[in-house]
Amino acid sequence: ALNPKLISIDASTLEVEETADPKELVPHHQLVFGANFTDHMLSLEWTAKEGWFPPRITPYGPLSLDPATCVFHYGFECFEGMKAYRGKDGELYLFRPDMNMARFNKSSSRLALPMFDGKMLIELIKKFVRLDERFIPNDRGYSLYLRPTMIGTQRTLGVGPPGSALLYVIASPVGPYYPTGFKAISLEATTYALRAWPGGTGHYKVGGNYAPCIVPQMKAAEKGLHQNLWLFEDIDPETGKPEQFATEVGTMNLFAAILNKQGQKELVTAPLDGTILQGVTRDSILTLARERLASEGWIVNERRFHMRELDEAANEGRLLEVFGSGTAAVVSPVRAISWDGKMIECGLPANEEAGPVAQRMKDWIEGIQYGDEPGHPWSVKV
Ligand code: PMP
Repeated sequence: ALNPKLISIDASTLEVEETADPKELVPHHQLVFGANFTDHMLSLEWTAKEGWFPPRITPYGPLSLDPATCVFHYGFECFEGMKAYRGKDGELYLFRPDMNMARFNKSSSRLALPMFDGKMLIELIKKFVRLDERFIPNDRGYSLYLRPTMIGTQRTLGVGPPGSALLYVIASPVGPYYPTGFKAISLEATTYALRAWPGGTGHYKVGGNYAPCIVPQMKAAEKGLHQNLWLFEDIDPETGKPEQFATEVGTMNLFAAILNKQGQKELVTAPLDGTILQGVTRDSILTLARERLASEGWIVNERRFHMRELDEAANEGRLLEVFGSGTAAVVSPVRAISWDGKMIECGLPANEEAGPVAQRMKDWIEGIQYGDEPGHPWSVKV
């Protein structure tokens, strides 16, 4: 049972220690994802006895932790990825931060790390973003990537629930993912390793899900492919035969636009069955597709789809588009998928880098993020 005392955060008790040594700004076009950080960090400590201590903003700097701290041994770590944007009105905005807070709480509670009041953390993040706002370039496509992180800090080699934790948020100015326009990627459908399975923890944003994906990623890169497509093999209820279902890509969810056998235009993505992360971008694309594409005859489905279905659709000219979705790039068009000894071509003409659905999703979502649709409920003023 949740003890309300243990999750409550009081944003009004924030203590701010400003840096005496402000950093020099890196010129826009030299920004590399996740390589530069702002002047400050936001931190909150927690103990099982006393709950959350007053939040602090301090100069960005190293942590000092005992080598026996539980995070280093048993992986008590979870995180979020979200962004602050400078709208064309010059004001700062967060995009659907409530969804990141809900997912962060799900991840932390799965690891026996503490839960927290998400509304209060959003208020604190706003104060942090305002303090470091000079790092957010005033240019479309640029943003401040925010990395809320939680770790177990108890000093013990005993395996058990952490008696203490640290929640911190750091911020990294980032440029557009595709500075010169979309570049479609190619995927390796990975058949020799699994990222997630029903009942596992693949649908939580915990650090332990990421490190094991790097070796398969390196193997795909050796073949000139950009990312892994993670599969999950299961019995297809329609045929009773085993099939390799598509789940997600690297650190993105996956969408396919198919002309189905009934001749309908269908946008599909895997369901939330425990094998994929519940992406904020995924949810946004589903919502926008239902609101804005239905009038063009599109149907939108969260359902399992397997590689043979994609392959058949491609062979019959019915695979219209495939793209990944995530906070970093919004959408990432896919040109081809290597599977079962062949390349499945995903419907992109050779001289194009994005299909019309991916292009419009990027334009719509960025439009909301950068204030083209003032007052949109997904855009939260800092
Ligand atoms: N899947 C995984 C495994 C991810 O790490 C991410 C990035 N958070 C996503 C999907 C996309 O999620 P979002 O749209 O919230 O960025």
